[in-house]
Amino acid sequence: MRIAQDTVVSLHYTLTIADGRQVDSSQGGDPLLYLHGRGQIIPGLENALAGKEVGASFTTTIAAAEGYGVHETELDLSIPLESFPAEQRHLLRQGARFEGPHPSQEDRTVLYTVHEIEGDQVLCSGNHELAGKDLTFAVEVVAVRAATPTELAHGHAHGPGGHHHH
Ligand code: ZN
Repeated sequence: MRIAQDTVVSLHYTLTIADGRQVDSSQGGDPLLYLHGRGQIIPGLENALAGKEVGASFTTTIAAAEGYGVHETELDLSIPLESFPAEQRHLLRQGARFEGPHPSQEDRTVLYTVHEIEGDQVLCSGNHELAGKDLTFAVEVVAVRAATPTELAHGHAHGPGGHHHH
């Protein structure tokens, strides 16, 4: 069976970026499980997988725009601590996340991550850590099957490495 719209795909992947640093891998754990054609994985990887069969093993490099997006300089912010509500300030520490408006696009909400507190300034960024980076995926297709009616209704794959309901 080939990977096509609404097939459930199981794959192992290793992700590296241009400087050779490995940033993510499924090796050693469950393969990634996803429902193809529903935008569950980044667009460039989904496109590269279309039409592949079980056992296929390949490497693909995906431009930042088809990955986690381009780096938006205006989303790297230094915000005075005092502009956060008093009851939230104690939550601001490295790695903390909060939603806020996009600086120039009123209708966009951005998820910001705090990188550092420097004096009375909160240094944070709304860029994904992999934004602006070209991504190289080494991929091995482990299994391909038709989605179940429940998976189609939910819009995601069920099982180890996929979606779990509690
Ligand atoms: Zn579900």
